[in-house]
Amino acid sequence: MTQTKKIPYKIYLEESEMPTQYYNVRADMKKKPAPLLNPATLKPMTAEELSQVFCTELVKQELDDTTPYFDIPKEIQDFYKMYRPSPLVRAYCLEERLGTPAKIYYKFEGNNTSGSHKLNSAITQAYYAKKQGLKGVTTETGAGQWGTALSMACAYLELDCKVYMVKVSYEQKPFRREVMRTYGAYVTPSPSETTAIGRKILAEHPGTSGSLGCAISEAVEAATSQEGYRYVLGSVLSQVLLHQTVIGLETQKAMDKYGIKPDVIIGCAGGGSNLGGLISPFMGQKLRGEADYQFIAVEPASCPSLTRGVYAYDFCDTGRVCPLAKMYTLGSGFIPSAHHAGGLRYHGMSSILSELYDQGLLEARSVEQTQVFAAAEYFARVEGILPAPESSHAIKVAIDEALKCKESGEEKTILFGLTGTGYFDLKAYENYNNGTMTDYIPSDEELAKSFATLPQVE
Ligand SMILES: *Cc1c(COP(=O)(O)O)cnc(C)c1O
Repeated sequence: MTQTKKIPYKIYLEESEMPTQYYNVRADMKKKPAPLLNPATLKPMTAEELSQVFCTELVKQELDDTTPYFDIPKEIQDFYKMYRPSPLVRAYCLEERLGTPAKIYYKFEGNNTSGSHKLNSAITQAYYAKKQGLKGVTTETGAGQWGTALSMACAYLELDCKVYMVKVSYEQKPFRREVMRTYGAYVTPSPSETTAIGRKILAEHPGTSGSLGCAISEAVEAATSQEGYRYVLGSVLSQVLLHQTVIGLETQKAMDKYGIKPDVIIGCAGGGSNLGGLISPFMGQKLRGEADYQFIAVEPASCPSLTRGVYAYDFCDTGRVCPLAKMYTLGSGFIPSAHHAGGLRYHGMSSILSELYDQGLLEARSVEQTQVFAAAEYFARVEGILPAPESSHAIKVAIDEALKCKESGEEKTILFGLTGTGYFDLKAYENYNNGTMTDYIPSDEELAKSFATLPQVE
């Protein structure tokens, strides 16, 4: 189809056009991501070992790097219909304000109560836990989006949900906590006295405000020490990236309807799930030699795992109870500065994205948080949506790319993932508006210290 139809401001799919399968990009990768290793034996984790922590069906998805498509169960497709398809928006207003010849599109994932794309995977993980006959699931949450999404999914399926929330967020984001409790979740500030690892971390670092890595350790311990519970994770894992491919599959279908082909695809990268989900179907085409795209991962300069990290096996959590994953990492002991407000705080990166980046198929950029908030406010004033700070990393680079087009006169088509809304991040917006927000960039010495704690593998 040629691009003659006027492109609407919002492109929606019909219910009948929504994806019925997830796409597993690993199937098309010639060199696969490295396997998870058992930290004790340094041998690849077996399905049996992983099943002590994760739901059986999800373990299958985690370990499968050859099956290209996984059916989305009917029950999950129906749940998706409550808040999907998400709109693909043509940012006409932003283009006009920037005065760029570039065409800008964003896929908006903030149209559900949890306010982000995380619900796409939360429902799938909760579904398989329920199907396995479990009582409930445990997890960690940082800023709170994942915990909120999981609480919603568990409430819908009548499963118990125990959330370890990074202490600093628990205290600074009481509203998030209350949303989770409203959906029936039990929320514990981490590190806590409720787990052995929490008590150990508290003894070693009294007064710590916590980190994602600590909260993960506690949630895993809580799952493995109680009958009928498993642990679920909102990012990083290959299964999560798989579920998030609904974002990219919907986007691709919507673009195909109007004969649109993106040149540049941009996403923010914390653990890599939204970016991986958005780019997977397009990356699949690239890997099969059917089309070419430029892919850009955007991360905070204060937590720069792709741009300044090393590609190595590392622990996924501070307490070192999880399997080892080969990924771009800052070291599992890395804790981003407390001045960093914008989410995306995880020390590592999805092993799929890490491998694609290592092969040069994906680029990465890091941006400073005051620039990110400047882009966020610019976007809010022009396009109306109050973006999450995480999402605003992608906005920043999309605007940069559009301005480059203005200089060169190129009419590129830019697509970015707008992962969520920022209503619970107004404290950070306040700091930005008051001019008290600072940019913290870790020094090489700090990173070197953290790299020194990497496990010796290979
Ligand atoms: C969690 C989150 C992210 C980052 O997580 P990824 O797994 O890297 O996608 C980005 N944006 C929002 C709104 C989030 O809640």
